[in-house]
Amino acid sequence: MKILVLNCGSSSLKYQLFDMTDESVLAKGLVERIGISGSRIKHSKGAESTVRETDIPDHTSAIKLVLELLQDAKLGALKSLGELGAVGHRIVHGGEKNDKSALIDASVIKDIEDCTYLAPLHNPANLMGVRAMQTALPGVPNVAAFDTAFHQTMPPKAYIYGIPYKYYENDRVRRYSFHGMSHAYVAARAAEILAKPASSLKIITCHMGNGSSVTAVDGGRSVDSSLGMGTTPGILMGTRCGDVDASVILYLMEKEADLKKVSDILHKESGLLGVSGVSSDLRDIEEAAAKGDERAKLAADILCTTVKKYIASYAAVMGGVDAIVFTAGIGENSDVTRREVTRGMEFMGVKLDDSKNDGLRGKEAIISADDSKVKVMVVPTNEELMIARDTRRLAEKS
Ligand code: ADP
Repeated sequence: MKILVLNCGSSSLKYQLFDMTDESVLAKGLVERIGISGSRIKHSKGAESTVRETDIPDHTSAIKLVLELLQDAKLGALKSLGELGAVGHRIVHGGEKNDKSALIDASVIKDIEDCTYLAPLHNPANLMGVRAMQTALPGVPNVAAFDTAFHQTMPPKAYIYGIPYKYYENDRVRRYSFHGMSHAYVAARAAEILAKPASSLKIITCHMGNGSSVTAVDGGRSVDSSLGMGTTPGILMGTRCGDVDASVILYLMEKEADLKKVSDILHKESGLLGVSGVSSDLRDIEEAAAKGDERAKLAADILCTTVKKYIASYAAVMGGVDAIVFTAGIGENSDVTRREVTRGMEFMGVKLDDSKNDGLRGKEAIISADDSKVKVMVVPTNEELMIARDTRRLAEKS
């Protein structure tokens, strides 16, 4: 079965076509600047790629273009659209109802619409992709894979905030957390690498990219996770603030007297960028810190310290930890960050082997010392493959 996985943003669309007989990627691409000037599509098949700059006014035209390229004589991977078994959509928010991926029907669409107040930028864009695909390929099953679903196993003590309970009862104000497909994938893969059943393991997964979250995975289930109702809490991110106390937000509200401005500060001007004044990109921060830039060093220090705090607290919550897994752009590539996060944690059985960690980028590996009680691992994430697997399973059932 061939499965197309789509990740639709408000002005972009990423896609990957999988052959599920061997889970290989047949083709992939990115449409950018949908609905604005300078729109273009970058499509690749193996080592060959093309960039086409053309008018792409909306998601329907973007999907038409993707489907054309997927059938292209040279760069395509489908002889006809009839080969496409199903389409999987990354959907950011599934609320409390959706604790797993779901075959999309009218009620799932309504759930996604109902959660729009929780993900106002993402859910409408995700739905545009669903609707465009339903129009382009009627009869081909569409599957929703929710970023929030994996975390629906968190117990109330992890997801209820310490504010009046009525805000949970009436408005569903609670922790949801995100990056669920990534945490689920790397936790399952770590168990495979360790050759132990996932149900027997306590794993802390550190997804560290531009957006970041740490999750406690006990017996294969998420029991706590550092993002919240929204995407600013937890560890310091590229431009998002991580944990700040409510007084800071109230102070900013009073000082700026502008809700949109404060939202932009917390989402777009904070994090590594806000602290360092250098960049939201950790590579730039590491380079500036190496040249002696104090604020770049401070930003990197805060990042590593917050991750360390989450690891220790999640180990406490689970009553132990068997493995710590690093993933996403920073987790997979920054040996410096992995070293600093795990430094001084021998007291809880974490002992890194520098010779295994140094220089390791984007590859699966166990980077702890052989006698480390807790295994420290790097597992490159593959959210698209996770979505493709769920899509296949649900499409076959349907
Ligand atoms: P997104 O959340 O947008 O998917 P990624 O997972 O691609 O983000 O992660 C982006 C982050 O990964 C950036 O901060 C980038 O600097 C960092 N990163 C990528 N490669 C390296 C590297 N070699 N060393 C340090 N950081 C890296």
